[in-house]
Amino acid sequence: MENIVNGKLFKNVMQSLNHAAELINCDPNVLVRLQHPRRSMVFSVPVRMDDGTVKVFPGYRVQYSATLGPFKGGIRYHQDVNLSEVAGLAALMTFKTSLLNLPLGGAKGGVRVNPGELSRNEKQSLTRRFTTELGPFIGPHEDIPAPDMGTDPQTMAWMMDTYSQQKGFAQPGVVTGKPVDIGGSLGRNSSTGHGVVYVAEKSCEVMSMDFTKSTMAVQGFGNVGQHACDLAHQKGCKVVAVSDVSGGIHSGEGLDIPALLEYVKENKVVKGFPGADPITNEELLELAVDVLAPCALDGVINEKNMENVKAKIIVEGANGPTTMEAGNFLSEKGVMIVPDILANGGGVIVSYFEWVQDVQNYYWDAEAVEHNMQKTITKAFNKVHKFASEEKVDTRSAAMAVSIQHLEKAMLLRGLYPR
Ligand code: GLU
Repeated sequence: MENIVNGKLFKNVMQSLNHAAELINCDPNVLVRLQHPRRSMVFSVPVRMDDGTVKVFPGYRVQYSATLGPFKGGIRYHQDVNLSEVAGLAALMTFKTSLLNLPLGGAKGGVRVNPGELSRNEKQSLTRRFTTELGPFIGPHEDIPAPDMGTDPQTMAWMMDTYSQQKGFAQPGVVTGKPVDIGGSLGRNSSTGHGVVYVAEKSCEVMSMDFTKSTMAVQGFGNVGQHACDLAHQKGCKVVAVSDVSGGIHSGEGLDIPALLEYVKENKVVKGFPGADPITNEELLELAVDVLAPCALDGVINEKNMENVKAKIIVEGANGPTTMEAGNFLSEKGVMIVPDILANGGGVIVSYFEWVQDVQNYYWDAEAVEHNMQKTITKAFNKVHKFASEEKVDTRSAAMAVSIQHLEKAMLLRGLYPR
């Protein structure tokens, strides 16, 4: 545990767990188990690089909880990945699936590598070797990985193929977020971003605001940010600023999102988009907008910039973007913070649907996926809002409380093995 407890993200997640446990008067014997991951694994992943040399990258998988079903959670490729961060993210997955009422546990994996520096062949070799190392611990009824930062449907296709080759027959249910042609679900790619918008809409409703007339700023223009902007724009919301690693762009009139999506397809980054002013990532977080959606890294809203944040609603598209301290400060000021475990839940909801389709060999149409995702995330939102109103607590605390209430019930019913 020494390597796990010291990371910033893990500490933050534990603080919010402990706070919620107090609110629901959680059984201390349950809480102590929720504070510890069930299994934490470290792998060495050797890869032959294109120049013929071999490099070894550290890989991780933390299987946090399997109380409610098979372990579930994404695989992250990023140069800062470490065991503690993966454990914190695996804990968040546990609280996310419980809050969303999905029959799944929580896990997360990752490799410490800068995926931008890998060629396609190197990325494929890394993925296939990592999957082989993970092989004994994953499976359609054991642990089901998915994409996260730095990984995508192609990465999942390589994982599915590697696992299937070693079993000797196709195993589509071993990962979710696959391309549709090999057992992926329609609507999975856009699910996290769309979920962010459905939650933003509901948040506006309870704050007596109209989402279709609101302004929004989105940090991160990857898979989540792009689909969130696309749907928000379609609904009439004015997306005034977006950013990525290259920096940000701003237009008081609202950005032309379809044109921006085309621009990014060609230029890879938002920088230089015509008709918009450049701003920094930091400035974007401080804009006076109705809705702020941080959809990139963790810890970006923190004690350094919290006093300058002017948004009325923060919808956490990323995992862990607001620190505990900043969250408390902003909630007290009346800002509504919809936490990651609810706000970015659209992804794992559709992952669950994908897995159901794979194990049943029966595939749904796009409308059924979208409709059921919206229904599931809205139900969770309503539960959280009810708890927050009845107990007079902020939305972040309420989400965690509702989640661990469900886990506590399940853990007490199952009991501690052997006794
Ligand atoms: N990586 C995503 C998340 O953090 C998706 C996980 C999944 O679909 O299993 O929620």
